[in-house]
Amino acid sequence: MKEISFRTNIFIGENSLDRLMKITSEKVFIVTDPFIEQSGMMKEVTNRLENKDNDYFIFSDIVPDPPIETVAAGVKAIQEFGPGIMIAIGGGSAIDAAKAMKDFSIKLSPHQQAIKFIAIPTTSGTGTEVTSFSVITDEVNQVKHPLVADSLLPDEAILDTTLVKSVPASVTADTGMDVLTHAIEAYVSTNANDFSDAFAEKAVQLIFDYLPRCYKDGNDLEAREKVHHASCLAGMAFNMVGLGVNHSIAHVCGAQFHIPHGRMNALLLTTVIEYNAEIQGFSAGGQSFAAKKYAQLAKIVGFPATNSRIGVNSLIKHINQLKKELHLPVNLRACGITKEKLLASIGKISEAALIDGCTPTNPRKPTTKDIESIVEKI
Ligand code: NAD
Repeated sequence: MKEISFRTNIFIGENSLDRLMKITSEKVFIVTDPFIEQSGMMKEVTNRLENKDNDYFIFSDIVPDPPIETVAAGVKAIQEFGPGIMIAIGGGSAIDAAKAMKDFSIKLSPHQQAIKFIAIPTTSGTGTEVTSFSVITDEVNQVKHPLVADSLLPDEAILDTTLVKSVPASVTADTGMDVLTHAIEAYVSTNANDFSDAFAEKAVQLIFDYLPRCYKDGNDLEAREKVHHASCLAGMAFNMVGLGVNHSIAHVCGAQFHIPHGRMNALLLTTVIEYNAEIQGFSAGGQSFAAKKYAQLAKIVGFPATNSRIGVNSLIKHINQLKKELHLPVNLRACGITKEKLLASIGKISEAALIDGCTPTNPRKPTTKDIESIVEKI
């Protein structure tokens, strides 16, 4: 038996930020990064709070791939301020850090009042506004830890397209590929079901149709909205059924080599598809569960897929075309990682990726040797 539930209420469309005007007489703890704090986006939030006699505090120390120390500082600030509501506005880093801060704060002081959590994504990538995940970085050991708990699920998510207009082209490309990876990994997860498939299929379709437009013109609001929705849909899919080894390796390599999360996922995506589908150098198969699912996905999105092998290959071909359009690096070397540097840490990477929380739902059970082989190929 599997339970399918959606706890986060999602607000979309024009003026969705006005939802914040419903907050009355509350202490509001806002978590964000320095860029968002200084941009007009923060005013969009605080203007709506000031109308209603709210006392608010802005914690804006978030950096990309938030470290444990930032979360600890946030917990301290929450306990001093005593909020009834938290608003996280920013990319995945700000929202994830805020989710962890809230969780640890409540664990440390179980008698403190419940804190309502509102997530406002300003990138279209992680889907964290609807997931029970929070990825926190251990900088000393250079590993990212995906925390998973129902208590991390936001109560509300506000998807306001105007907030993503300013995302630079390279971040648009990276985060958009994160969406595609979430949707594809959820689609072939060992837990995949008709419900998660529906969300994943729509997300993949929207990414292929609209991500290149966002990349070319950040002010194309129609395309921005579609990709923002795709990000949330893919988040709903993987929150239901988990991810796979693409993310496991990305968590380790991203922390090790300081490569943005979405870009790291993009580097791995087609090699992981080949591995899971057991084709091209991994074995002569092509008939696995994953191969059939990839082909089914290719067919739904409108790519040639007269049999599994053709379907998998056309999905790979279109992903490579998309990466080219987005000017994404073709391999680790293009990201400045030399062969020597890679070989020096490949053992550590494969061991850490094997025990990452995303590995158990991968459709093919990897060994450390398999992971090494995937990493060597990229
Ligand atoms: P990010 O939050 O690190 O932001 C990347 C950069 O974009 C930052 O410099 C930020 O200031 C800037 N930025 C954000 N919004 C902007 C805007 N509107 N205009 C201009 N610049 C803007 O990047 P991200 O990809 O959104 O998040 C990555 C983090 O999320 C990683 O730590 C990753 O591991 C994690 N993650 C979490 C989940 C989950 O389910 N919790 C899923 C995938 C990834």
